[in-house]
Amino acid sequence: MKLPLIGNTLQQLRDIAAEAGLRPFAAKQIARWLYTARVTSIDEMTDISKTARAWLNDHYTVGREKPKAEARSTDGTVKYLFTGAGGRDIESVYIPDRDRATLCVSSQAGCRMNCSFCMTGRQGFHGNLTATAIINQILSIPESESLTNVVFMGMGEPLDNIDEVLRAIDILTAPWGLAWSPKRITVSSIGKLDTLRRLLDETRVHVAISVHSPFADERASLMPVQRAFPLVRVLDLLRGYDFAHQRRLSAEYIMWGGVNDDLRHADALARLLHGLDCRVNLIRFHAIPDFPHGTSPTPVMEAFRDRLNERGITATIRTSRGEDIAAACGMLSGEKS
Ligand code: SF4
Repeated sequence: MKLPLIGNTLQQLRDIAAEAGLRPFAAKQIARWLYTARVTSIDEMTDISKTARAWLNDHYTVGREKPKAEARSTDGTVKYLFTGAGGRDIESVYIPDRDRATLCVSSQAGCRMNCSFCMTGRQGFHGNLTATAIINQILSIPESESLTNVVFMGMGEPLDNIDEVLRAIDILTAPWGLAWSPKRITVSSIGKLDTLRRLLDETRVHVAISVHSPFADERASLMPVQRAFPLVRVLDLLRGYDFAHQRRLSAEYIMWGGVNDDLRHADALARLLHGLDCRVNLIRFHAIPDFPHGTSPTPVMEAFRDRLNERGITATIRTSRGEDIAAACGMLSGEKS
């Protein structure tokens, strides 16, 4: 079987170049063809010798794969379906918004974190996406060239696939790769403490932590990860990093009516986040089957936001996008809609 070239880092491309009988500097040429010129065939790499191209063609493909299907929302959001892992498809969501164009990428097919409110979690875990599959989502949507931001908030827990996610971030940010500023990238996690440190130490991307409740028992009932990695320990780790300058930290907070939306929760959340440079994103919940709670009413969300702001925590209500195509937060399932 031929292997894909996209998703390889410069060091990996050096090894491939050596196998092809090329000098090490050819790795940079190949990287430029893959990530700057964005070619879809090896034959387009015209400064690589014909013999080496023939060898590459025998053993590799560029590895670009177009989306298998798409669904367009009335608000401009587009959901794309790609081949994932373990025989399952995965989804990416393109979200245009004034001068920004964000792609929400998936990092796993399914997820093993089992959050009770999430369609992806319901599927169980089917496999990690390779860096190739992650980078392909970014390179192969029709709007690829106009993307301004990438968020790792699609299917899967990115920090449960840390090696491939770090490789994808390297390709996105390195001068030989897409050369993006890390400020254009956000990785969202439920707080997988064991690998969070690597993300913090090895990259400079923005970080978003899913909080959803300031109370340990309540959070554990929504997010089993709380039992292994209590939020207070996650926040303690984050306190050791600088989020006051280039890098941003946000707390994601889905609001369920009568569950986690009273002012007692707002006060506890403010206490928990005290001293951290962190903004809170309040998120409407999108109903999924067999989950008993619905979203908080807008006035309740506004009162919650105002209470946080009064207590010195910047909080905003995030605009919901793509709900009509099941592309909003927590709704991704890898099924055609
Ligand atoms: S919310 Fe995120 S971490 Fe939790 S089950 Fe869904 S995809 Fe996994």
